[in-house]
Amino acid sequence: AAKEQGRNCYRYFTSSMQEKALYRRQLANELRLALNSSQLQLHYQPIVELTTGNMTKAEALIRWCHPTLGMVSPAEFIPVAEETGIVIGLGDWVFHQAAQQAARWRTLHDPEFQISINKSPLQFRDKGNDISRWIDHLRALGLPGQAIAIEITEGLLLDASKAVTDKLLEFRDAGIEVSLDDFGTGYSSLSYIKKFDVDNIKIDQSFVRSLKAGSEDLAVCEAIIVMAHKLGLKVVAEGIETNEQRALLAAAGCDYGQGSLFSMPLPEEEFSALLSSKEVTEEVAI
Ligand code: C2E
Ligand code: MG
Ligand code: MG
Ligand code: MG
Repeated sequence: AAKEQGRNCYRYFTSSMQEKALYRRQLANELRLALNSSQLQLHYQPIVELTTGNMTKAEALIRWCHPTLGMVSPAEFIPVAEETGIVIGLGDWVFHQAAQQAARWRTLHDPEFQISINKSPLQFRDKGNDISRWIDHLRALGLPGQAIAIEITEGLLLDASKAVTDKLLEFRDAGIEVSLDDFGTGYSSLSYIKKFDVDNIKIDQSFVRSLKAGSEDLAVCEAIIVMAHKLGLKVVAEGIETNEQRALLAAAGCDYGQGSLFSMPLPEEEFSALLSSKEVTEEVAI
């Protein structure tokens, strides 16, 4: 189609495509090297129980501090990692970091602390025996499956092959919870939730952003919460930024919240400090 629109357009199209491809190839090469350096880090964002305010879980979010580009967003490099297969090694790295961190925070702060990690659809195509390796690793750290949860998106369920559904079952058999991330943005079919038996639904931030009393977004959130609870699932609302959003979601019976109102994702040490300060204020309150 670009060719029909004339020569200039065609040339412009190709060169920008080439530039993009080049940039992505460069990013991929650097990402491969970054995997074995300290450029990659996990940040942690609290997942808060809305009724008590307790931070009982955290989501691990990857950060890449590139030597010349600065912070590269996961929204930019995860797709590159997927295209090149790097995401498999990256996923293992994320899992190992998160498991170690879960072991530390379960010892120091809360014996039931759970860390959620994101798993992109491509990671499910790994033919390797990753789940049994993961379970062995958890056992070696003295952790039950419940220390870790995985977040998947609806896209995975859409074209779910038997291999994918088998893997999801293996996670759940090991006690590793499965959360459906960004719920409401894809082909959120109720039948998927039933068929795949997930543990948690994460309402996408696009529904939370303009939440107001009497709004359509609130009606959608309320409907998701009622449905999820009837199916025995817990609900997490993402992107809570104001007290009003929190109050409306709590009143609607939402179980957990995540967002800048509580804290944006933090490096390990700052998250630890947040956990400690919470404990101090709670002790003072008693
Ligand atoms: P996600 O899993 O839906 O993560 C939530 C995103 O929302 C995070 O962006 C988080 O920083 C941001 N966020 C949280 N609270 C607020 C808020 O109150 N307001 C606003 N405006 N944003 C908020 P982040 O860290 O840039 O991650 C983007 C996406 O990249 C994630 O979306 C996830 O899909 C992907 N990702 C991140 N880490 C990993 C990873 O280790 N592996 C894989 N496969 N994907 C990852
Ligand atoms: Mg997520
Ligand atoms: Mg999300
Ligand atoms: Mg997302």
